[in-house]
Amino acid sequence: MPVQHKMFRRYTLQEYIALLETFVGKVVFTQVHVHGTWKPTIADYRAAADKERLIQSMWRFHVGTRKFNDIAQHATIDPDGYIWEGRSLLQPPASSTGFNDADQDGRHPFMFEMIGNFDIGAETLKSPQLDTAVGLTRAILERWKLPAAAIKFHREMQPDKTCPGSAIDKSWFVGLVTKKEQPGLRPEDADRIIRTWLQPAWNAAGSRNEKDEIHRLANELRKASGQRIS
Ligand SMILES: [Zn+2]
Repeated sequence: MPVQHKMFRRYTLQEYIALLETFVGKVVFTQVHVHGTWKPTIADYRAAADKERLIQSMWRFHVGTRKFNDIAQHATIDPDGYIWEGRSLLQPPASSTGFNDADQDGRHPFMFEMIGNFDIGAETLKSPQLDTAVGLTRAILERWKLPAAAIKFHREMQPDKTCPGSAIDKSWFVGLVTKKEQPGLRPEDADRIIRTWLQPAWNAAGSRNEKDEIHRLANELRKASGQRIS
């Protein structure tokens, strides 16, 4: 009979990276496995009065129904960009059959889930959840000296799945993770330029061509600051 209750702590990305630092030398992460929960959805998360209970219900499903020995993932990223602890980092994950490196030799993949249904036409992976997913993936790669090829989407291991979601392009995500931090444009500044200067100019533009050109410039600002174009 499994325990009936487990507490899950919530971290900011910075707090979680500080936690990760204490595991360098204790565990060897070989890959980063990226998943989306599909269910619970972002809407489920928004509707939940007690967010920890949502994590607990995943744990209960994994332990009770799936018969895993703990919640499957090492970490769960919620739509507010917080990271909820999962199973012990010293334990192999229940990520994808045949890919968990479950032989308890201290080497295994790091697995995280992002809460949401990220299939095409459903919900959207965006800031701050996206920033945390990118930052967490980058932190694992840097601290365990892994190449970008160590990033694995669930669907790469199990082709009948869309996980982490058919709307999440792998090369787009990897590009965000490996993007060199440069003293370029900060996203807040880009947004301010768009909102304060380009938006009024777009509204006042007299022709379609003028509007299209302003739209193009706004997207150049978004690209330069590492954001998705619209
Ligand atoms: Zn998955």
